[in-house]
Amino acid sequence: MSTIAFLNIPMHGHINPTLPVVAELVRRGHVVTYHTAPPFAAEIAATGATVYLYPEADRPLADPPMPITMLEGLARTTAGLLPRVLTELCEIRPDLIVHDSACLWAGVAARELGVPAASLFTTFAYNRQAPSPTRLSWRLLAQAAAHPRSTREYLRWRRRLRRDYDTRGLPRFDYANARQPLNLVFTSRDFQPGTLDESFRFVGPSLGSRPPDPSFPADRLRAPVLYASLGTVFDAGPQLLRNLITALAPLGGTVVVSTGGTNPAALHPLPDNVIARRFVPQTEVLARAALFVTHGGMNSVNEAMYAGVPMLVIPQGADQPLVARRVVELGAGLSISARDAGPGLVRALARRLLAEPRFMAAADRLQVAEREAGGYVRAADELERYLHRSAGPDRTGRSAPADSRPGRSGRRGRSDRPDRPDRSDRTDRSAPADSPRER
Ligand code: UDP
Repeated sequence: MSTIAFLNIPMHGHINPTLPVVAELVRRGHVVTYHTAPPFAAEIAATGATVYLYPEADRPLADPPMPITMLEGLARTTAGLLPRVLTELCEIRPDLIVHDSACLWAGVAARELGVPAASLFTTFAYNRQAPSPTRLSWRLLAQAAAHPRSTREYLRWRRRLRRDYDTRGLPRFDYANARQPLNLVFTSRDFQPGTLDESFRFVGPSLGSRPPDPSFPADRLRAPVLYASLGTVFDAGPQLLRNLITALAPLGGTVVVSTGGTNPAALHPLPDNVIARRFVPQTEVLARAALFVTHGGMNSVNEAMYAGVPMLVIPQGADQPLVARRVVELGAGLSISARDAGPGLVRALARRLLAEPRFMAAADRLQVAEREAGGYVRAADELERYLHRSAGPDRTGRSAPADSRPGRSGRRGRSDRPDRPDRSDRTDRSAPADSPRER
């Protein structure tokens, strides 16, 4: 039994895939702690993890509108959270730290405490084909020039972090892309564009059982079921949803629409075969769907691939255009911009997706890849294997005494820091993962 500390940014899309992994680790007898913000405490506690809350005032990455402010927010939040997070981690004494790739403070804390760490990617793993939002680029530099206050603040917090903590091993600029010797990606290797090194393991969608929703009229579903959702973050507004309903109602046995931020009443009157609700049991509906009209959120697309459902992707923002492009590239769907999504074009494309066997064949291929990736069970296996490798006898025959670990000496501003747990029994965490194989 080990103690595993999860630290995450407080966003549904980043937390959701971790929940079945945490529940699985708890089931296997590990003690799991989870640092999060108050709105997520209850669902995380339900997995059996012990919840640690970030201070209310410090809502990291509430809604990062652009890369330069995201960088500033990450640097500031990291500096703000680290003293408390370090104190709590010293009490927890984790054997392993698991964190989101944008959870920079966890990466710094792991380095400071000499604890092995694994990073989680809930969208694509970042590479040339799937670029990180905070990579150094001409676009970022132009933004930095246009927002001098954010840039100044970012540089100030960045200097402070480098002065006060061991930030070696972390990205120099690309703060949302904190990699570790083990990196778990919640999609399949087939869906990820481009190549990555062996530290990346593609575990596929992490779908645990969701609580049933008895209020959903599942008995009203008639084939073909056509499902439309534009996610939980971007509010597309009623017009686009009305267009989707007008387009799909004549094609479907039943059309299910998740309206998100839009009140379903704003869409009335509805055709008889349309069910419109703010939130629907998505995985249950996808299991019976012939077509999914989606905004291209990574979780939704993974869930659709897992169910083998072709997609019409109407991206709204963030990584969604990239996800849409990949769906089209792999033949599992089509994509149009929200601007073009009038009823006529949506209906024509939906007809093609329902009629042309090549879309179903590609969706079937991706379904196999997503299921074979292993999901949360594989994620838990990978973390356990990594734990054993990190805790086992030092393969080099050398053991790194705590105070000789990287970055422990000669730095300023450290005297007010809590004592680190005695980890002198551990292998140096900077040792690379043990020839991991990408699957
Ligand atoms: N979801 C759901 N019912 C709904 C709408 C969304 O269960 O009516 C879930 C969906 O299954 C997915 C998540 O909410 O797991 C949405 O995440 P995604 O990354 O697709 O999009 P976001 O909402 O973050 O834009």
